[in-house]
Amino acid sequence: MDKKNLTEIWDLILEDILKEEENKDSIELILENTKLREIDEKSGKAVVVSETEVFKTIIDTNWYNQIKESINLRLNSNFQLVILTEDEYQKYLEDQKKSEFSREIDLNSYIHPNDSLNPNYLFSNFISSESNKSLFASAMIVAQNPGRKFNPLFIYGGSGLGKTHLLHAIGNEAWRRIPSMSIKYIESRDFGKTVGEVMKNKGDVTSQIAAFQEKFSKYDILLVDDIQFIESWDKTKEIFFNIFNYFITQGKQVVLTADRYPEEMDSFEDRFRTRFKSGLVITVVPPDIDTAIKIIKLKLTAHVDFDLKQITEEALEYIATNFSSNIRDIEGAINRIILMNIVEGASLIDLNRAHVIFKEITKNKHVSSPKRIINEVAKHFKVAAAEITGTNRRKEIMFPRHIAIYLCKTMLGISLKEIGREFNRDHSTIISSIEKIEKEKETNTEIAQVIYDLRKLISSN
Ligand code: ADP
Ligand code: MG
Repeated sequence: MDKKNLTEIWDLILEDILKEEENKDSIELILENTKLREIDEKSGKAVVVSETEVFKTIIDTNWYNQIKESINLRLNSNFQLVILTEDEYQKYLEDQKKSEFSREIDLNSYIHPNDSLNPNYLFSNFISSESNKSLFASAMIVAQNPGRKFNPLFIYGGSGLGKTHLLHAIGNEAWRRIPSMSIKYIESRDFGKTVGEVMKNKGDVTSQIAAFQEKFSKYDILLVDDIQFIESWDKTKEIFFNIFNYFITQGKQVVLTADRYPEEMDSFEDRFRTRFKSGLVITVVPPDIDTAIKIIKLKLTAHVDFDLKQITEEALEYIATNFSSNIRDIEGAINRIILMNIVEGASLIDLNRAHVIFKEITKNKHVSSPKRIINEVAKHFKVAAAEITGTNRRKEIMFPRHIAIYLCKTMLGISLKEIGREFNRDHSTIISSIEKIEKEKETNTEIAQVIYDLRKLISSN
């Protein structure tokens, strides 16, 4: 395919992606420095080249699937996507010149090792928290003993909490341990779409479906993401159920994810739900603030030219507090930081700067305010909101007041002066409240828990 065509296709892909994104500016900057360089029918690969390692990482972690989907949708094909840096691509071209035959081999050495597993989602970059400990352990056990322990493993929970990450991690780990294993990751929706296509084919549908089932039955491990999407597709459900049952009876591992507990999946008949529950059902919950901070640090260090010294603990805590109910949002926040660093040059990200950076992101989200914090704290401690900002020095009022001040400082990223205005107090009183809570929180777990609960409440809608 010539250059002009590739540019045209890439423009269409950009359109597809930008349509769905909120932070268009940042993405535009990254994607403009990225090009579709090759569509190779022979090897079935589409090669996208990014100017730098940072852009490559950002694209790989955020838009790999969208780009691949969009290419294949636009070209009505099934290309594998390879993302390279300019340097890697040049090396690949050189290799290619050296030998006609090296082409396939060389491209493969840069490529995702298995076409349905995402090699970036591993156990080693999944942060396990206290509340997700058993989830992490069971996923690991399944990866190490596929088909022998919890079969099926059914993981359910809210969006952006790591279900897809864990599915791939299980696949990657099982595959690393036993390289001969063939592993299939599939979103239930894609499974359904394929069934739909098979059914539309002319000729003997029954034997085609049989062939389709047969193809799936060959895998050793089946990882099916977001099973709720096929809830209302009866034929798909039936075919899936056949394959699923075959796997279970053959002692081959199945891992499923869903947004709900099996019992709550009304459109699946009893026989499904019973089967879904027959192995291990386990939930994924949002990370606590400390875990969220660890995740942010991990994601930041994945960017080669970002140094953790460039961000203060306070700023990290601010991001964690505001985004921890969905890690995908945290990643959006991180991309924003990395991007600001590229655009504006590296400088320290403190609470104020973090606040400015995230103003735009939080614009569309629910944003807390001092009023909201004061109201929630008052409700929690069963005192009047006016008392919190008032003059009463009774202990029952003073304590909630300190907490509210502390939360304003850590959640809102506003200045001490502004907080002072909200609470009718001077700057030094505000500092002393914050210090008091900071100190007590260290030793008193009850206080730490109250703060944690209030934060969750305040940052939710
Ligand atoms: P879900 O499938 O539950 O909607 P994903 O698996 O897509 O969520 O997770 C969203 C993003 O958050 C992914 O990029 C994933 O790597 C990241 N993520 C989620 N949980 C963790 C975790 N505990 N540690 C590291 N990254 C995580
Ligand atoms: Mg998912």
